[in-house]
Amino acid sequence: MKPSKTLLEAKIPGPETGIQVKQTICDICCPSFHCGIDAYVKDGKVVKIEGTAEHPLNHGLLCTKGLCNRQYIYREDRIRTPLKRVGPRGSGTFQPISWEEAYQEIASRLLEIREEYGPESVVFFSGYSKWYRPWLHRLAYQFGSPNYATESSICMTSTFLNWLVTTGNIMSSPDTPRAGVYLGWAYNPYHSRYLAAKGVEAGKERGMKVIIVDPRITPTTERLADLHLRPRPGTDGALALGLAHVLIREGMVDEPYIEKYVYGYEAYRAYVQGFPPEKVEQLTGVPAQQAEEAARMIGENLPLAINESAAPIAHHRNGFQNYRAIMALSAITGCFDRPGGQIPCQFSYNYQSAGFQTREDQFTLEAKPKNARPAVGSQWFPIWGDFINEAQVDDLARQIQTQDPYPLKAMLGFGVNFRIAPDSEGLKAALMKLDFLVNTDLFMTDTCKFCDLVLPACSSFERSELKAYGGGWLTCTQPVIEPLYQSRSDVDILCDLSKAMNLGDPLMEAGREACYRYMIQDLPVTLEQLKEAPYPVKIPVEPYQPGSMLEKGLSTKSGKFELYSLAIAPYEERGLDPLPTYKEPLNQEDPEKYPFVLCSGPRLTNAQHSRLHGVPWNRFLRPEPMADLNPEDAASLGIQQEDVIELFTKMGAITVKANLSIKVDKGTVYMFHGYSEADVNSLMSPDHLDPYSGFPAFRSTRLGVRKKV
Ligand code: SF4
Repeated sequence: MKPSKTLLEAKIPGPETGIQVKQTICDICCPSFHCGIDAYVKDGKVVKIEGTAEHPLNHGLLCTKGLCNRQYIYREDRIRTPLKRVGPRGSGTFQPISWEEAYQEIASRLLEIREEYGPESVVFFSGYSKWYRPWLHRLAYQFGSPNYATESSICMTSTFLNWLVTTGNIMSSPDTPRAGVYLGWAYNPYHSRYLAAKGVEAGKERGMKVIIVDPRITPTTERLADLHLRPRPGTDGALALGLAHVLIREGMVDEPYIEKYVYGYEAYRAYVQGFPPEKVEQLTGVPAQQAEEAARMIGENLPLAINESAAPIAHHRNGFQNYRAIMALSAITGCFDRPGGQIPCQFSYNYQSAGFQTREDQFTLEAKPKNARPAVGSQWFPIWGDFINEAQVDDLARQIQTQDPYPLKAMLGFGVNFRIAPDSEGLKAALMKLDFLVNTDLFMTDTCKFCDLVLPACSSFERSELKAYGGGWLTCTQPVIEPLYQSRSDVDILCDLSKAMNLGDPLMEAGREACYRYMIQDLPVTLEQLKEAPYPVKIPVEPYQPGSMLEKGLSTKSGKFELYSLAIAPYEERGLDPLPTYKEPLNQEDPEKYPFVLCSGPRLTNAQHSRLHGVPWNRFLRPEPMADLNPEDAASLGIQQEDVIELFTKMGAITVKANLSIKVDKGTVYMFHGYSEADVNSLMSPDHLDPYSGFPAFRSTRLGVRKKV
């Protein structure tokens, strides 16, 4: 039957048009989302997408990033075959090779390097996306290397590290539905996690108070905040200590709870005496009366739920301690592990907390090499080294260049992007020194261009993926189209490499589905049931009872919530403080030459790091790299809207256009990251790092601005 033109143009599914609707997921942003997508497929091509109405996460919604998936997966610069470098490194000249040749080359080179320099000389690096990480982690360990590394070294792991040090548990989440007051610290879900805003909107409707801490005016501060506090970037710790000062002074803390469940309160209380609101105003710029008002709003409306956003708080050289100071508010008000406060949670699978346990940890950690040398960065950042089973990538460039404490010679990469790092050009120069460099990606990125081998990965539409969701949901997606060109699933590539290197790992050699079965073996569902179900399947879970972790005793050394950290105490001689002490974020060098604070990485509505810079539908809102600055600052420099300006630090300069906005605080310049033509991270010093976590000071670096003539 010939379909009518109208039916085809309207993309109506059915036998007349040959259009089928198949379910998949979006993996543009972080794994705590991955919304369900209905893909309309005709003749093996996705012709339309919609959010899946039946999906338990997004209920039919997609954000402006997810809606551009079709343009994303059909980008012209998709890598089509495995490629081998034929010109000089960095020339970008490659020849296509077969998968078999690629596997053999990678296996023989990595095994040679292991033989000559030891297994730790090979780094196994994951950027975006993250769905295959358990396999890369296991492969690194089976190979014998401690150097499994991820971009989370500068992202979400800051949150995990703080919770681990303070409570012995990896995460907690705000119990928004039962909260009386919500403290959104650096919280702007409308630009990054749109689904997360719904709970706060609902809470506000039932009378929950909302305090937002953010230097900028955002949709969240405008729509949700009863009170908006605007500290200078990186002074969050001083503000949190000031709030604690008022809460303690006003007797608004929970003494019985502190007595029973909190360790180090007396020392902490003595320390916060030094942060009266007037001093906090000097340190942070937040008026003393606003800090008083915020503390009272908290104390009078308990329970307190806190949503502390990872990167904006952690991306300072004092970020780790600032984070702890914020978390301490939950403990002193008696709200950690209490209804309406912070509910401890654990990951079920791939960064998702669903209430059930898979065997992901056993899968990754059972092969952890014994007596391996310390992972990259752990000697400099001991708190990171003690708690996180990963290399700290902010030390990668230094170690490649200096070979201290041992040489690094090769990298097997998936989604590696050197532009994520402070002094990004420095990381590029270091990577170019490796003897052997492989990257796997969908697109020919700037990093792929200087690799020895490049492997084509496929998108979430073209692969099968195990995925958990909060509330007890689990799914195993199926491809809705064949992999484009010769691209393959990252997990299949990793299983094939395990076999090619003959690492003696029967599970990986058995392939992806055998690994899925291993992960879910304790759950009351089979892989076949998951594969047959078009939507996520509900796994029966016992709801967590708030308070049970406290009663059992936390997994810290004291068994309590540690305001004074016994995990940090052994490192006091190295200058680390067990209390959440405050230090100024900026260095004091050249404030006259560099009078502004540069803040790299605050979210743009349509951007997800650099993943969507090459997608026209996403790029059109801001086609050129721009720096946001306050109109008064701009006027003082004779700068007008869209003038060409230079941003400069001690590391160098970039040229961008000026975007004047009253939503930006005076004295701070904001610039989104990841642009090849104006890489703001190239302006960041590789030495301006947090001594606890190794995190870079992306959000507080001294900056000069001038109009380009
Ligand atoms: S990019 Fe948007 S649509 Fe895609 S997973 Fe994230 S929130 Fe969902």
